[in-house]
Amino acid sequence: MKDGQVPKKPIIFYYLIALVVIMLLNALVFPQFTNMYTREVDYGTFVEMLNNKQVAQVEVQKEEGQILFTAKGDQRIIYITGAMDDPDLVSRLEEAGVEAYGQTVPQQSSPILTFLLTWILPFGITILLGQLLIRSMQKRMGGPNAMSFGKSNAKVYVAAETGKTFKDVAGQEEAKGALQEIVDFLHNPAKYNAIGAQMPKGALLVGPPGTGKTLLAKAVAGEAGVPFFSISGSEFVEMFVGMGAARVRDLFKQAQEKAPCIVFIDEIDTIGKRRDTPGGMGGNDEREQTLNQLLTEMDGFDGSKGVVILAATNRPETLDKALLRPGRFDRRIPVELPDLAGREAILKIYLDKVKTDGPINTQLIALSTAGASGADLANIVNEAALLAVKNGRETVRQSDFEEAVETVIAGYQRKGAVISEREKKIIAYHEVGHALVAARQKHSAPVRKITIVPRTSGALGYTMQVAEEESVLMSRKEALDKLATLTGGRAAEELIFGVCTSGASNDIEQATKLARSMVTRLGMSETFDMMALETLQNQYLGGDASLTCSAETAAKVDNEVLELIKSAHKKASDILKADEPKLHELATYLLEKETITGEEFMEILDKE
Ligand code: ADP
Ligand code: MG
Ligand code: ZN
Repeated sequence: MKDGQVPKKPIIFYYLIALVVIMLLNALVFPQFTNMYTREVDYGTFVEMLNNKQVAQVEVQKEEGQILFTAKGDQRIIYITGAMDDPDLVSRLEEAGVEAYGQTVPQQSSPILTFLLTWILPFGITILLGQLLIRSMQKRMGGPNAMSFGKSNAKVYVAAETGKTFKDVAGQEEAKGALQEIVDFLHNPAKYNAIGAQMPKGALLVGPPGTGKTLLAKAVAGEAGVPFFSISGSEFVEMFVGMGAARVRDLFKQAQEKAPCIVFIDEIDTIGKRRDTPGGMGGNDEREQTLNQLLTEMDGFDGSKGVVILAATNRPETLDKALLRPGRFDRRIPVELPDLAGREAILKIYLDKVKTDGPINTQLIALSTAGASGADLANIVNEAALLAVKNGRETVRQSDFEEAVETVIAGYQRKGAVISEREKKIIAYHEVGHALVAARQKHSAPVRKITIVPRTSGALGYTMQVAEEESVLMSRKEALDKLATLTGGRAAEELIFGVCTSGASNDIEQATKLARSMVTRLGMSETFDMMALETLQNQYLGGDASLTCSAETAAKVDNEVLELIKSAHKKASDILKADEPKLHELATYLLEKETITGEEFMEILDKE
């Protein structure tokens, strides 16, 4: 908490002291100077006073053609007289025994001195203290840049600095293709201009988090070999009201000077939110101003000059429509979660960076990581390497990768967790219940692993199913089988122990979600046929669905969902009842081994 501490003596304390000092000086010290005044006399008077030995000090100013002198007694009056062509002056002065001769009389410029002391000096001190105050404020606010009003802190990257090229991005071929075109344009705009083609001013990268949007933008910078301005949306709305718009203006000014170049605005949804949605309290105006400035700037510059604006977001539906109209971000480049081939390619990129123990079956890992993003896969490879180190090995093995997949999906193993024998037994039957129901249905993916080792995510055990090949479609039959598999755990608990436990909470959540989407979005219920009852929002961020039907229909939807789950539950119970001996056999084996593979499972299942 060191940063938050208030300095022992706040700067204002010194400021007050300085103020008091200045006031005292003004009141006590300066008057001695300031009360001086001058009096002009004629030369005769001067000579007379000399003769009367009334003169104390004299200064002859030849250039100005005048003589300054003071009288004995009252030193505060400076007499001035015009210098006469008087050859006897020197002897007269000697005769009179004048105290000093030369620059001893206070200068006649004393009004200026007075002015300096009473006006300029306090001002100087004030300004100096102000500077100190600002500097100490800056320190607390994080660096001198905090106060550089209106300067965008977009970093200028040149080719070498991002160090990324398209080779670093695996999969995402469509996105790379679209961006390649932009790179090509920046290299030879003449080719495009000759035919009359206009490059889109902006391209928007949209997709779920971790799919490589930021990475792609950096790769474009590396490929294009032109200056690359990168700024994050949140940096626009950082600290001061009204700063955002100024930042945008400054960024575009810089960009136009450096054209051809690329401007990259990451997480553009922070400033590009739709304006009609009330965005909570305050701060809204600020964002709107920033957005308006951005729109203005994008209209304002000439696209053929070679400034291309890239932006990335994972919430495209929240963006203001004005941003998406032609002439602005008219091109949308989807950066989706990688498919099987994509995952394999990404894994290979990261595998090259670790030492492996012989060849690694990347396809197997890719198969078991459906739905993982590029960032997840990078993480899995790293976890595997960490595991190898933890186990004192110098190379990474296939088994490390498999364990890493589980770690990333379900968290780390909780070896020390204390679970009673009875509970362990329930968990074993629960997991075997899932696996058995899956295995006895035609349309479910094969079981690959069953484990009752608890994980840091809270999972007490799980059954991993991996499809033999990736599919992009799910049939109604598959969906129903999946529902039954999900209810299989609870069904086994009920059948053997006659209890319900909280262990099924995750299954319940998943089953409800699946059944609901079957009814509302996938057209898989008999009652509603192909009627859309829900729309998905934030599809890239988990996707919350919102009902778009009347309350009456909503009640019917709930009924339908309930029916689906109930019949799945019943189906699972029936399967397990018919196969009870196998259930016991498998559960006993699992209890003993804690983790069993798909092959072991099938072996027990198939033997008579
Ligand atoms: P986003 O901006 O889409 O949220 P990032 O570009 O920041 O995701 O990706 C995070 C990390 O994930 C990258 O730094 C990279 O290590 C890895 N990554 C994601 N997608 C890919 C990919 N297609 N190829 C290689 N690495 C990737
Ligand atoms: Mg990003
Ligand atoms: Zn379960």
